[in-house]
Amino acid sequence: NSGKASLTNLDTYARDHFPLCMKHIYGILKSVHHLKHFCRLQLGLFLKGDHFPLCMKHIYGILKSVHHLKHFCRLQLGLFLKGIGLIYEDSMTFWKDEFTKAMDSGKFEKQYAYNIKHMYALVGQRVNYSPYSCIKIISNNVGPGDHHGCPYKHWDSGILRSKLNELGMPSETVQDIVDTASKGHYQVACGKYFEYIHGPQNKVAINHPNQYFEESLECGE
Ligand code: SF4
Repeated sequence: NSGKASLTNLDTYARDHFPLCMKHIYGILKSVHHLKHFCRLQLGLFLKGDHFPLCMKHIYGILKSVHHLKHFCRLQLGLFLKGIGLIYEDSMTFWKDEFTKAMDSGKFEKQYAYNIKHMYALVGQRVNYSPYSCIKIISNNVGPGDHHGCPYKHWDSGILRSKLNELGMPSETVQDIVDTASKGHYQVACGKYFEYIHGPQNKVAINHPNQYFEESLECGE
C-alpha cells in the first residue's frame, strides 16, 4: 500500500485551508509554474510545517527558538532543505535571516556562510552532497545537547513520549510509537507517526526524510 493520494488533493487542501497569502502564491505557481525567490521561500517553509518528519521538525523548531544550530544539525536540515528544492540563494537567505536574529551579519558571513556554500558545492572540493537517508541519520553519533539524529533512535523514551504528547496524539498512539522505537524499529515508528498525521489509509515505509516529505505533500494535509 503506497498510501499515496493524488497531487490534486493538495489543490483541494490549498483551496479550503490555506490562508489568502499562501493561496495566492500557490495559485501563481499552478498558473505559471514558477515562483520568484521570496515566494518560493514563503510557500516552501509554510508547507514544511506539516510535511517534515519529526527529525527535521525538531531541528527546525530549535533553529526558530535559539536562532542557531550546531554543525551536524545544520548539515542534516540544510541538505534536507536542499533536497526538497530550496535553491542556494534561498537557502542562504533562510539561514542568514534566522542566524542574524542572534548575531550580526558580519559574524554570519565570517563563520557560517562558507558552510552553506559548501553544502551547495560552490566552494572547497565542490562535492555535491546528497540529503541524508534515515540509515545515515540513525547511525550518526549524537551527544548530549545535540539535536541532530533520529528522534526514534536517539531520544530516550520519556522525551519521545513527551514530544508526541505535546502534539496532542492519543495516548495509545504515543504508546505504540514509543514501544516500536524501543524495540529498535525506528523507521516503522516514523511510519506510524506519518500515519497519525495523515490518517490510517496512508501507510508508508519510510527510508528517507525527503521521501517522507514528498509522500506527505502528496497526502495534502
Ligand atoms: Fe527522520 Fe528517518 Fe528518523 Fe523518520 S526514521 S525521524 S525520517 S531519520
